[in-house]
Amino acid sequence: DLVVELRSISKLYGDTAAVADISLKARRGELLCLLGPSGCGKTTTLRMVAGFVEPSSGSICINNIDMTHQPPYRRDTGMVFQSYALFPHMTVAENIAFGLENLRWPRQKREKRVEEMLKLVELPHLAQRLPSQLSGGQQQRIALARALAIKPAVLLLDEPFSNLDAQLRVRMREELQEVVRSVNVTTLFVTHDQEEALTMSDRIMVMNAGKVEQIGTPGEIYEAP
Ligand code: ADP
Ligand code: ADP
Repeated sequence: DLVVELRSISKLYGDTAAVADISLKARRGELLCLLGPSGCGKTTTLRMVAGFVEPSSGSICINNIDMTHQPPYRRDTGMVFQSYALFPHMTVAENIAFGLENLRWPRQKREKRVEEMLKLVELPHLAQRLPSQLSGGQQQRIALARALAIKPAVLLLDEPFSNLDAQLRVRMREELQEVVRSVNVTTLFVTHDQEEALTMSDRIMVMNAGKVEQIGTPGEIYEAP
């Protein structure tokens, strides 16, 4: 049940290593946080998994298939960004259906899936709204629904809650944990917020200056000197 395997991946920009020799294994349904200060290489790592950034060396396997040189749409990943996540001119339903249309799902199957996803994030009444008519928390729930619509092997989130207020952030973490558990998707979550990582993760990968400092459960990370 190994879903994600990063083997010694590095990314150089000029002679600077944004990511230096990172290896990681994540199993099915695991929620793993990439934690570290700004500039330590979290986003670059996530983008290499998604296929938006090509590693300078190393390899990336998803469900035991080497994806290192595959384009994003072949990788079986769904991504949620910090902001500007939804297409502003499309309704909520159209946003969620977008990836399914690209995969040539027939209309009826698409509509059924959109309905399922809206139920999953508990917003079935918002299908016909435009993103601008949603709150920040609702927008990120819909972004999550869109990312999960294609039933990806891997869910990738890049600081998805950092534009939300503190109280809502706590609630969104709980909701995300529930969703991840209910669909059993392997999840990589980028954050610079230690509390967020400690409260939400099955395991945490602590990064610094492009390298892995530690990998472990929140208990193991918290107790380490
Ligand atoms: P984090 O997500 O942890 O904030 P990033 O992965 O965004 O870190 O960036 C890691 C390092 O790589 C930073 O020093 C950043 O300036 C650099 N970097 C990221 N993307 C590029 C790029 N496209 N070109 C040059 N340098 C980049
Ligand atoms: P984030 O908060 O998501 O890490 P950043 O503000 O660090 O976003 O980066 C925004 C975009 O700029 C990303 O696509 C990143 O790869 C790119 N980037 C970051 N640092 C640099 C850099 N030093 N040179 C060029 N592009 C960069």
